[in-house]
Amino acid sequence: MAAGNPLVEVRDLVKHFPIKKGLILSRQVGAVRAVDGISFDIVEGETLGLVGESGCGKSTTARLLTRLLDPTSGTISFEGRDIAFMSHEELKPLRRDMQMIFQDPYSSLNPRKTVGSIIAEPFVIHAVAPDPKERKRRVQELMEQVGLNPEHFNRLPHEFSGGQRQRIGVARAIALKPKLIVADEPVSALDVSIQAQILNLLRTLQRDLGLTIVFIAHDLSVVRHMCDRIAVMYLGRIAELASADELYGHPRHPYTGALLSAVPVPDPRLAKMKVRQVLGGDVPSPTNPPQACRFHTRCPKAVAGTCDVDDPELAAKAGGNLAACHFPLSDTEIAARVPTAAP
Ligand code: SF4
Repeated sequence: MAAGNPLVEVRDLVKHFPIKKGLILSRQVGAVRAVDGISFDIVEGETLGLVGESGCGKSTTARLLTRLLDPTSGTISFEGRDIAFMSHEELKPLRRDMQMIFQDPYSSLNPRKTVGSIIAEPFVIHAVAPDPKERKRRVQELMEQVGLNPEHFNRLPHEFSGGQRQRIGVARAIALKPKLIVADEPVSALDVSIQAQILNLLRTLQRDLGLTIVFIAHDLSVVRHMCDRIAVMYLGRIAELASADELYGHPRHPYTGALLSAVPVPDPRLAKMKVRQVLGGDVPSPTNPPQACRFHTRCPKAVAGTCDVDDPELAAKAGGNLAACHFPLSDTEIAARVPTAAP
């Protein structure tokens, strides 16, 4: 699926959340199809972006990858071992190799614990560095590595700014030198001026520690300089998966084209050439997604009798992008949506 050694191979992954009714919630009346059959690889050392509107299934995918959620079906192979249905006991030794950074640095840190003890949590859980002096030394090293003052070891989370709190979350995530970090919208709750600092920090750590990162975002402009490849999700499925250069330069799926057409272009000459593609309607409910192509109810290129009947596979299109679409964007259509790609 992608060049390089896959660290993680996801196949036909499904997560449905049952909707229950009745006095003791004993009757299942439906399901939220949060993730509905996705397949992709995460290559060692890469940053893979997962992007899409709210409710597209990207955060559920993040939690499935790290097994904070149990899948409904499918496989998640981590270094060749299927972890999709491993017990918590079996997973414990693998957990140190896969860590998460959460969206909200305000709520993901225990307000009553000192920063030192928060960052030391993985050491305690996995019985690493049991000597308190050694543990403190390692925690302070981590604080320095993520740009925090090691002398603030005994401070509480509320004494730090939003950006600094996210640095605490990053320090905790890298404490055990994991192979995989899944960062779920790590900068969405931060001021724009701070976002770049955290993105730069993640990039530096990835280079220095050889990390593999899955970076979740709802905004394509955030992931552009962060990711090697990007998967665009829509209603629990992958609509398009491509290298960052190809995805931004030559999006093939109409949904990706619409998202990119909404990204502001700083050059006024190019901005004038750009045709903004406004998508009609809301994202349909994941409890009852449209048949066949999930995007057909909002797609400007939908063809009745094909797109609403025949479910498109995620397959290679011009330029090598994988796109789930019967009628991918032509070069002319791309040039209107992404004028920076025009000759
Ligand atoms: Fe649009 Fe049809 Fe492609 Fe779906 S398959 S994205 S409806 S053109």
